Amino acid sequence: MNIGLFGGSFDPIHRGHLALAQAAASRYSLRQVLFVPANVPPHKQKQPLTAFIHRYAMVTLATQDEKRFFPSLLEAPEFTPKHVGAGALTCPAERGSANYSIDTVRRLKKSLKKSDRLFFLVGVDAFRDVAHWHEARALLAECDFIVASRPGYSLRDVAESLPEGLRPAAAVTRPFHKQPAKGDLVLPGLALHLLEEINQSVSATAIRTAAAQGKPLARWLDPRVADYVRKHGLYRKGA
Ligand code: ATP
Repeated sequence: MNIGLFGGSFDPIHRGHLALAQAAASRYSLRQVLFVPANVPPHKQKQPLTAFIHRYAMVTLATQDEKRFFPSLLEAPEFTPKHVGAGALTCPAERGSANYSIDTVRRLKKSLKKSDRLFFLVGVDAFRDVAHWHEARALLAECDFIVASRPGYSLRDVAESLPEGLRPAAAVTRPFHKQPAKGDLVLPGLALHLLEEINQSVSATAIRTAAAQGKPLARWLDPRVADYVRKHGLYRKGA
């Protein structure tokens, strides 16, 4: 069975995330896509982040209607008794150590069958930084990658993002600068599948800004997520 692992901050989960997962699931026959909100995303350790429990709740709401989509607790913080009960949703986010994708992938693979094939889903903007991820080469060797292109990114951007040793020579990648990132890039030590542009120019940052200004969020969010944001007053100034 083909399984997708889609990690992110999901602060909040939005239509861009869902479009990426839909496109990947259809194109690569993924029977399950696990949406894995990170408790502590390594690249966002210093910036404010909504409590894990809210982000997980929003992922659960947004994935409810699609039978292939599952919210996952693979990167959940450890909950203690004070997180259970009426005050749970108002607990401040508790930071622990960063969630590295390599650890998550290895943990997940322990529960998979030999015949299962794992695909790591990521947008090209995040993939641009892959060379700096913890144990990047090991991660790229652990599973297939589905890299979703976004407007403005070329095949050369993808190839040049690879860690040294896996990166093709500049002379090879240079002519790719005008080519859209699509097709497969299979090299020793990695298999990248490039999904053509997911045309959803939305980001969680823009949504948080709009929410802080009291603007409507319906066009970017699943209606249940928009209701959740409103009900809990997430992203409001001073919240
Ligand atoms: P932020 O604006 O807070 O940085 P984000 O909208 O980029 O957040 P993340 O949760 O950080 O969302 O991203 C999770 C994954 O989803 C990343 O791999 C990212 O590249 C991808 N992604 C985010 N937005 C889109 C989009 N509009 N289209 C396609 N992929 C996206």
